[in-house]
Amino acid sequence: MFDVIIIGGGPAGIAAALYSARAKLKTLVLEKAYIGGQMATTTEVENYPGFESVGGSEMAEKMMNQARKFGALVHREEVVEMVLDTPVKKVVTSKNTYEAHTAILCMGASPRELGLPKEKELIGSGISYCATCDGAFFKEATVAVVGGGDTAAEDVLYLARFCNRIYLIHRRDTLRATKIIADLVLSHPKVVPVWDSVVEEIIGELNVEGVRVRNVKTGESKTFEVNGVFVAIGNVPNTELVQGKVLLAQGGYIRTDEAMRVWDPSQNILKGVFAAGDVREKILRQVVTAVSDGAAAAYSAEKYITETNL
Ligand SMILES: Cc1cc2nc3c(=O)[nH]c(=O)nc-3n(C[C@H](O)[C@H](O)[C@H](O)COP(=O)(O)OP(=O)(O)OC[C@H]3O[C@@H](n4cnc5c(N)ncnc54)[C@H](O)[C@@H]3O)c2cc1C
Repeated sequence: MFDVIIIGGGPAGIAAALYSARAKLKTLVLEKAYIGGQMATTTEVENYPGFESVGGSEMAEKMMNQARKFGALVHREEVVEMVLDTPVKKVVTSKNTYEAHTAILCMGASPRELGLPKEKELIGSGISYCATCDGAFFKEATVAVVGGGDTAAEDVLYLARFCNRIYLIHRRDTLRATKIIADLVLSHPKVVPVWDSVVEEIIGELNVEGVRVRNVKTGESKTFEVNGVFVAIGNVPNTELVQGKVLLAQGGYIRTDEAMRVWDPSQNILKGVFAAGDVREKILRQVVTAVSDGAAAAYSAEKYITETNL
């Protein structure tokens, strides 16, 4: 029996593990992929106080080692089922079933897909959701970036280090990205904006060879020859597992209070269950806010355990 089980080993989960283990609670982190979550996919984090610039995976390793030092256990297992509405929480993975007094949900978010045929098949063969992860594979290539927000704009600037030409395909006629970044993108000599347009087909069998794009105002379609497509149209929370168990807000994010407590769909508090990080409804999804949530969730879990004499 654990005191705290944390589902997800991104920055929120690791921070929760650090605070929980340091409070001498028996703590287990379950992570299905790699420690650090989305943070580990970025080459540089430049906005975490105290670090002018640090690699995402380096930061993840440092954070995890710190949590492990205080006794947190980390298992590489995917959680496939959870029972959260009983005093003892049951967490089932592909390999084991675990029990705990409290559960902290830190499953984060994943990139939104275009939802087009061939998109899934061509992931790794030209389709990517992470420019900082895959950009270096596209040296001197022509690529498309789909989206108009900060992520799309940052992806374009990053890809401009490697690629010869970047089509920026956006369904509106202005970027939503922060002005300073948008200006850099639009004045970049390698960038060709394709306004008012959506991708309607990915062309290519074994590798991406092009995209067919439709202008939403004129209805006209046009084909662009590209070697890669970087999709940057937002994120979706990883909350499929808790659908029907936990109160979800708009967009499928978990609703919490300031103590990171969560409710069931009938709006009764789910005792001993907390959520932290990108998976929850909040205004800013960043490393610094994820770790803050994780710390608060662990503090609340500790308080719940003490107050209920568990
Ligand atoms: C390319 C990129 C660059 C970024 N750059 C910055 C930056 O410079 N500065 C900044 O502050 N933020 C940045 N961010 C955002 C930041 O990385 C996220 O806000 C942060 O990682 C959120 O942390 P999290 O722990 O809530 O979720 P995540 O990082 O999404 O971690 C969630 C973890 O849960 C795991 N998981 C999900 N479901 C299960 C399951 N069923 N079983 C087990 N494990 C599960 C996932 O595998 C994942 O590891 C960037 C994000 C991306 C994608």
